Amino acid sequence: MSEEPTRLYLALETLDRAAHRRGDVEWIQEQLSNSAHFIFAWRERNLFSVGPEKRPLFLDGPGPEIPPNPIFLGIRPKGGSLFAADLSARPTEEDALTSLSLSTDQARFIPLRQFDGPLSAEDRALLFYARSLTHWQGEQRFCNRCGSPTLPEEAGHVMGCTNPSCAAKHFPRTDPATIMLVHNGDYCLLGRQPSWPEGMYSTLAGFVEPGESLEEAVFREVKEESGVEVKNIHYFGSQPWPFPQSLMFGFIAEAATKEITRGAELEDVRWFHVSEAREILRKLAGRFPHLDTIARRLIRHWVNSKTEEKR
Ligand SMILES: [Zn+2]
Repeated sequence: MSEEPTRLYLALETLDRAAHRRGDVEWIQEQLSNSAHFIFAWRERNLFSVGPEKRPLFLDGPGPEIPPNPIFLGIRPKGGSLFAADLSARPTEEDALTSLSLSTDQARFIPLRQFDGPLSAEDRALLFYARSLTHWQGEQRFCNRCGSPTLPEEAGHVMGCTNPSCAAKHFPRTDPATIMLVHNGDYCLLGRQPSWPEGMYSTLAGFVEPGESLEEAVFREVKEESGVEVKNIHYFGSQPWPFPQSLMFGFIAEAATKEITRGAELEDVRWFHVSEAREILRKLAGRFPHLDTIARRLIRHWVNSKTEEKR
């Protein structure tokens, strides 16, 4: 069974971003008063229904009170526009829920990584998208050129400086990071951070530095964290990782050297036989079951390719 690395990360079928509509203030206003659905956030948490059926709550039009500065996400395939709205100005979670006519028996604001119910790939993509933008807006309330307050423009996709002599436009930020499965025959290289649950290992990963290509970042990170040098670096696929604002670029690379010298960031790094890697996969699946992380997909892809080889 071969894996399609990029398939699940595409939200195209879930939403038309309709970027050309963002500047059309009248049209956006019309959407808000007629056919809007909302993804609500409160202090980096998302809204989920609780009780027997746990699921993300995308609410239809918030009633008479439209929350301040909703961000236009796009048009849903069956019609209706989707917006993200941040209720972080509400002092408590209960207050934020009350503003939506909900009680804590019906819904809660839960950190996305801690949600323990099922999540479809489509809903995950939408929550990631909404989360990226609400987080960025919260961080960009002031101009980082002149320090004046900013205000949302382009339906929330630009934050414009309110100082007329500056008038800088600020755009959403995404920080590139690399994540890589390094293999050597029947072994792959996995490491663990001190903060992770016991026995948990995963692929190596690290941020891309300014002036660096993705491939250079892969080579440097693996070398820094494990002492191993890699060759034949191939792109695998990508995944947004809005914790808070990364885009993970997945790679598969072959080990050119085998000896391990552990770097300062990891508690342990070592070679795992394919049978041990299968065990690690099970553990990783229990960690963020609803997020199907690219780390899992990389390891799964490699384990499956080794299994096929043996047939
Ligand atoms: Zn400014």
